[in-house]
Amino acid sequence: MGNAPSTRVQDVLLVGCDNSGKTSIVKRLLGDETRTTTPTAGVNLKSVALDDRTPLQLWDVGGRQTLRQYWRDYARQARPVAIIFVIDAADPRRLAEASTAVPKRLNDPVLVGVPLLVLANKQDVAGAIRPTELGACRKLGGISDRASRCLGCSALRGDGIVDAIV
Ligand code: GDP
Repeated sequence: MGNAPSTRVQDVLLVGCDNSGKTSIVKRLLGDETRTTTPTAGVNLKSVALDDRTPLQLWDVGGRQTLRQYWRDYARQARPVAIIFVIDAADPRRLAEASTAVPKRLNDPVLVGVPLLVLANKQDVAGAIRPTELGACRKLGGISDRASRCLGCSALRGDGIVDAIV
């Protein structure tokens, strides 16, 4: 997400449907135990320093349908430098939901042009959709207007998360 050293905390917005693994990814980044999570009701703010570069503030926002109306408010408060869109790659049934819920909220003026990282989580599950198979990734983000990439990870195993973000 950029190579320039900085001491200024940079805000990163984590979005995606409920159960996609957002909180588990944050816990993994913090080095916390990931087996138990509780659904995010509003927003969880967590600071994380992955290396000696820019410290990040992660905005883990609740993904349940009734909470998605608030993403815009959090985006406006956060003014994020990047957006992480987490997908449950082990649950293809919810891809359609994710692909409509997230892109339409990326059009907010404060999010226009903000780089997007799509994380296809739960790669440890047999049959999980691979990031390369997510040809739909570009569609998922409606993202021809910004820098974007799609990578796989497993919050359960801890694979791919830090590498995707630093
Ligand atoms: P959130 O609602 O997006 O914050 O999702 P959570 O982090 O609460 O995770 C939802 C469920 O998925 C929990 O039961 C997690 O243990 C599980 N989970 C999260 N990441 C992974 C993963 O990489 N692999 C597997 N198998 N399960 C995961």
